[in-house]
Amino acid sequence: MSDHSTRFLKTKIVCTIGPASSEPRVIKRLCEAGMNMARLNMAHGTPDQIRQLAQRLRENTSNLGHPVALLADLQGPKIRLGDVPETIELSPGQNVAFISGEKPDGAALPVTYANFAEDLSAGDRILIDDGQVELLVRKIDPPRVEAEVVIGGPISKGKGINLPGVHVSAPPLTDKDLSDIDLALEIGVDYLGLSFVRRASDIQQLRERIPDDILIIAKIEKDVALQDLDAILDASDAAMVARGDLGTELPFEQVPLVQKRIVRLANSNYRPVIIATQMLETMIERPRPTRAEISDVANAILDGTDAVMLAAETAAGQYPVESVEALTRVIGEIESTTLMVQGPTYDVPAGVNDEGEPEPTEVAIAGATAEAVRVLHSPAIVTFTTSGFTARVVSSRRPPVPIIAVTDTDRVYRQLSMVWGVLPVLCQLEQTYENMWASARTELLRRGIAREGDRIVVTAGVPFHVSRTTNMVRIESL
Ligand code: PEP
Repeated sequence: MSDHSTRFLKTKIVCTIGPASSEPRVIKRLCEAGMNMARLNMAHGTPDQIRQLAQRLRENTSNLGHPVALLADLQGPKIRLGDVPETIELSPGQNVAFISGEKPDGAALPVTYANFAEDLSAGDRILIDDGQVELLVRKIDPPRVEAEVVIGGPISKGKGINLPGVHVSAPPLTDKDLSDIDLALEIGVDYLGLSFVRRASDIQQLRERIPDDILIIAKIEKDVALQDLDAILDASDAAMVARGDLGTELPFEQVPLVQKRIVRLANSNYRPVIIATQMLETMIERPRPTRAEISDVANAILDGTDAVMLAAETAAGQYPVESVEALTRVIGEIESTTLMVQGPTYDVPAGVNDEGEPEPTEVAIAGATAEAVRVLHSPAIVTFTTSGFTARVVSSRRPPVPIIAVTDTDRVYRQLSMVWGVLPVLCQLEQTYENMWASARTELLRRGIAREGDRIVVTAGVPFHVSRTTNMVRIESL
């Protein structure tokens, strides 16, 4: 339906790749429909399946004329039911015992987390399968946990377990995560997502194991993470509002305002943010979304998210391409309204600190850039960026025109594909500013983004090859 190559959308689209989208033909169609980042959920698939998927993604996304980033989403300390042989129906009032391990022990259900009995106390809640089944802990008799079913339903092998309000003492990276990190580095991902982040040090532990040029997305899905959100965002490169687990850990009615809070804080810390899960859930089985889903996507865009994410819709659904097309239609409609053309409807935060301290230089540059395009009616911003940092900071001020981010690094080119308002351009970075501007000028005219006589706001960090030195803004005439 819509051809992404002919449209520029500010809000980006992340697609989870799975059995429904692993064929080259489908990957190509997802790209045409508007996919900006492909997500591999490391909780699923064997290493060889993941290698093959990554290779297919690279082969089918590298010559499109626009980049598609690759995200490996690490499972983190997710607690799951172990190997129960068949689906078990739990009824309200029933007493159930749990025990750590992979296999059932007598009548006790196995749980894949070693410290289950140590971390829980009587009165805590155990939620299974996204909260479909709820139990109340009655008695701890290590290693057994005894609980009473409050909300009944079917449970089966591998279903996720959430423990709202419980300080889970598991390390942030499990043995599986450690081998998945090696696999992710081997297949050359651009982003790593970390699940169940609880504190900033979780991110630092991952950072120590990976090269500097791979960016980390903190998945916000634990209630305890909300108490340390500023520090977590500061330690990460981007964030994800992972509403599946978040809506299980928190009372679900709190999710909409928490979503707004995370997006706002991510914007003010210039961290790109993704809103994920159940965006078009109906489209797993049906060709059209509900009006409520469309409203949810529209409101995520109006909240100021950088990207919206599809999970089962593209990984396992019957309508993966149609789901991306639906997102593209909503994004196109919202962004074509006057409010979004002139600038976002929400207040763009002035800066990162509330203490009356001076802001970092890059915040001033980004603010000046956004203001300059408004008063000059510039059709575009050009930013020369080696690490992508300058482009991310400029984007966080949500200027009303495309941010042409010129970089000479393949990985940065791909990473910028999920940043709001950014149009990444890969080209040789010249030694002098004059030569760089000459290349950018040619690109602007060739792509029809600007015309002779337009004034363009240019920003960069000089010297060019030193990351995090955003310090220059200039107005150029075409
Ligand atoms: C979520 O919980 O919303 C999420 C995106 O994480 P996962 O798919 O890993 O459960």
